[in-house]
Amino acid sequence: MSLSEDIVSNLRGYSKAMYSTWFHYKPARLLLDGGEGACSTLGNFVFGIEEVFLTHGHYDHISGVPGLIYSRASARGDKEKPLTIYHPAGDELIRLQRDYVLKTCGRLPYELNWEPLEPGQEVPLGRDRDRGFVRGFATPHQRRSLSLGYRIMETRKRLRPEYGGLEGREIAAIAREKGRDAISETYDHVLLAYGGDSMPIDPDVVAGAEVLIHDATFLHRADREGNTHASMDEAFEVAEAANVKALALFHVSSRYTRREAEKRVLQLIEQYDFKPAVTLMMLWRKTTFRNGKIVRAQ
Ligand SMILES: [Zn+2]
Ligand SMILES: [Zn+2]
Repeated sequence: MSLSEDIVSNLRGYSKAMYSTWFHYKPARLLLDGGEGACSTLGNFVFGIEEVFLTHGHYDHISGVPGLIYSRASARGDKEKPLTIYHPAGDELIRLQRDYVLKTCGRLPYELNWEPLEPGQEVPLGRDRDRGFVRGFATPHQRRSLSLGYRIMETRKRLRPEYGGLEGREIAAIAREKGRDAISETYDHVLLAYGGDSMPIDPDVVAGAEVLIHDATFLHRADREGNTHASMDEAFEVAEAANVKALALFHVSSRYTRREAEKRVLQLIEQYDFKPAVTLMMLWRKTTFRNGKIVRAQ
């Protein structure tokens, strides 16, 4: 299984535009958005979540947060495990929810932190970034308030390009002479980029991502009302420009049936001659397309 397939298979969640959106990404122990149904679905898996990353304060993305906080105090598991909720700085709706929770939750057996984030700010995962790190980026969604997308990243090492043409033993000789650090350089690799609700996001920000999860509220540009959500064809264009390994589509409007959405994905794969795998995340189901065919529905 490729890395991008592995990432998609580890994503569990729900998405329906204007109702609820949340994704649990188990390897990094985090929840991306917290729409209703997250904690009732996850049950005792709520203890597997150490960080929540909220993209913005709209109801369908935060309505499950109080339930998650309360259930971690009563479900069976490690009740002392801390929980941190990261959110865009200055979001009034999230501030109101935080105040409500703090007034009503009583004394929690664990440490609960709410951390505002600005675009570009980095959050280490695990001790000393052993589970990677998350970096937020501003997304075009709300007019008055900041909304954030998130990139789950890891730092990798690679051979410096100037040594690219050399043979293995030549590289080994230079490494012996100058040290390993002289022949390699580090770079940040995007494992999973989640745009949250948005118009098309800037491809440069998610360039080379293993998996891009992009807003696909409308199947066609002409269906759009207002300037807050992307269409499926736009999501394909972002993925193509960013050269991602796999594209996942979410936040599809309930005006479309699954059949209509699947048909549209097949049409766009053909239209763009799109090579990466595509996964449609509609309600509970993930439908994966490869080489212009549905390969898996789960
Ligand atoms: Zn939404
Ligand atoms: Zn929204």
